[in-house]
Amino acid sequence: MKIIRAQNLVKQYGNGEAAVLALRGMDFDIHAGEFLAIMGESGSGKSTLLSILGGLNTPTKGKLLVDETDVYSLNQDQRADFRRQFVGFVFQNFHLISYLTLAENVMLPLATAPIGKKKKRMLAEEALGHVGLAAKVHRLPNQISGGEQERVAIARAIVNKPPVLLADEPTGNLDSKTGQEIMKLLRGLNDGGMTMIMVTHNPEYAGSAQRTLRVADGLLVNGHEKAFSPAWDWVQGPEKSWV
Ligand code: ADP
Repeated sequence: MKIIRAQNLVKQYGNGEAAVLALRGMDFDIHAGEFLAIMGESGSGKSTLLSILGGLNTPTKGKLLVDETDVYSLNQDQRADFRRQFVGFVFQNFHLISYLTLAENVMLPLATAPIGKKKKRMLAEEALGHVGLAAKVHRLPNQISGGEQERVAIARAIVNKPPVLLADEPTGNLDSKTGQEIMKLLRGLNDGGMTMIMVTHNPEYAGSAQRTLRVADGLLVNGHEKAFSPAWDWVQGPEKSWV
């Protein structure tokens, strides 16, 4: 089943002399349960693509269908809802809030979810448990290591149990041993059925993916694909999301 369909995605930033064509027409599909790596030189359009896939950045032209929903035809509130239910983001610099505990950081994506505070706290602790930080939920971000901060960022991204996880260089700032542990965690989430879309510069980490999209100058330059056959049925939809 195709969970994401990108059709002729074009993104231009700015106008006139200052115009930058970051994406110049991209077409591709992503299957539910797939682990996809996105690679390319700096400035080639990877982050732009990831932000468009996550419903955060309106393309200049083209369409993004996620589970049959035309994401950029939704109004702002609907799009915020879509993000909450469908996608988790792991940003390169974690973006943890320094004066909130780990549990409070992880609860942030649930701020507008129609559930009580106790349930939110329980989901946050469950997500932190999933990434191996059950014992540190009351700590502040500066009281844990860089690898642990990355784990918190992942816990925050999965707290609403989204079917799709988007990660921008999740191992970029980590030493190789810690990076490998993070990759193991992402592979585990993918084995559990989560569709994984990861920007990386590291060919070894891209090797965890079933497929690599190579981006150059705003275009896809390959269609290299390993055979993909999901070992499970994709069953999670917005109506079945955990929150
Ligand atoms: P990558 O993630 O591969 O480094 P980006 O998607 O960040 O590439 O950038 C693609 C191109 O778009 C680059 O030329 C970059 O300078 C430009 N760009 C990205 N974001 C903006 C923005 N908000 N305003 C103007 N230009 C941008």
